[in-house]
Amino acid sequence: MGRRAALLFLASDALRARAAGQEAITMRQRRRLADLLAWSRRFPLYRRLWAGIPSDAGLEALPPVTKADWVHAFDETVLDPHVRYEALWRHMQDVSRVGEPWLGRYSVCRSSGVSGKKSLFVADQGSMDVCWSLWLTRAWLPWLGPGGAVRLARRGGRVAAMIATNGHYASAALIRRPSPMGSIANARSATLSIHKPVGRIARALAHWRPAAIVGYPTILDQLAVEQLEGRLSLDLVLAVSVSEWVEPAARARIEAAFGCPLRDSYAASESLAIGFECPEGWLHVNADWVVLEPVDESLRPVPPGEASHTTLVTNLANHVQPVVRHDLGDRITVRPEPCSCGTPLPAVRVEGRRNDALVFHHAGRRVALAPLGLITLVGSIPGIAMGSQYVQTDARTLSVRVAFLPGADEAGAWAELERRLRAHLRAHGLPDVDVVRSPIPPRRDPRTGKLIKTWSEVGIHAGAAS
Ligand SMILES: [Zn+2]
Repeated sequence: MGRRAALLFLASDALRARAAGQEAITMRQRRRLADLLAWSRRFPLYRRLWAGIPSDAGLEALPPVTKADWVHAFDETVLDPHVRYEALWRHMQDVSRVGEPWLGRYSVCRSSGVSGKKSLFVADQGSMDVCWSLWLTRAWLPWLGPGGAVRLARRGGRVAAMIATNGHYASAALIRRPSPMGSIANARSATLSIHKPVGRIARALAHWRPAAIVGYPTILDQLAVEQLEGRLSLDLVLAVSVSEWVEPAARARIEAAFGCPLRDSYAASESLAIGFECPEGWLHVNADWVVLEPVDESLRPVPPGEASHTTLVTNLANHVQPVVRHDLGDRITVRPEPCSCGTPLPAVRVEGRRNDALVFHHAGRRVALAPLGLITLVGSIPGIAMGSQYVQTDARTLSVRVAFLPGADEAGAWAELERRLRAHLRAHGLPDVDVVRSPIPPRRDPRTGKLIKTWSEVGIHAGAAS
């Protein structure tokens, strides 16, 4: 089957499965899961982890894969001898190649890891085609509706994405990847770095006039403020949020400012199309291509209606580096009854991505800093791990609890992080915000065990005084 025929087949299968109802979704999940588990037994990592477990054992009998397993045994997670940790990591040092297929055929991305090494992910063409068909048929088409699709087409189909582009992160890998629709679609999408000042992003958008925007909700919210205050006049059909939890007030502001719906999505390095939001505000999981298991501290299943401790994910589409029962670290709650939107796909709410936007004020302007804008700044600073925490301790202070690697040159690493943070704050029109290194090391939330990366200790109105 040619590439286009394969894409059409996948897209029509996604539409048919959704139309046929829950039974059709479950059947596909069962069949694809059996295929994936049989295939995964050929991989050294799973041969080792699953030794002694009968080959007909169900998914719940298999031990979950930890970040440490994945980082330390990366070369055992693949069969292709060309895919090696060191080679892929070298490729990722070149940020001009974000989204470009690696070795001409693999989509790659990274996420936080352990012991100073990142978790790296490799996806094959087949799984990227699945991802693309799901985003098309279950996200963009229903979100736009027939009227919105026509309006988007009439406006040249231009879509702008505002994300972190300084690393091979999942959102960048997904958005920057060349479209299967060919060069016309590529020319109609633009990516803008969120590390640029919001004024510059707004000017670029005003010049390019996209019909839809995609980005972290905190950035979309900043642009909504620009629009509401008259410095921007975009005419949008749709706004799509990725990667972060959408604060209700931000959602209301974005929808009011642009006069279009905001729709949220759920994706991770392990699977770039876990679920998409419906008009009722629930994320519907693409259960025919991904298995999500909400579990408690002891990894026992958590029933619908209760928040999980964490979530295990199994990606049924990727065969080059099978992801089976990865700990996502997200707390989810499955909706117990069918969703009133009528979608047969299971509906969930996600809490894991709940980092706060930090709101500062300068010269009468409110500036919300996107959590991912801060978190991704540490990028590749030698000696700093991904688990640092950013705390707004008062109206003018950003305190950082830095996660240093063992043996790091702490003073040198901090000087570089401080320099980047100050530049980031200046770029966002906050020259007066002070950056301090906290004497406290990063700490997990004692209740949930989650590492929240950004939060504010300032009362809601305290910042307005400046
Ligand atoms: Zn729904």
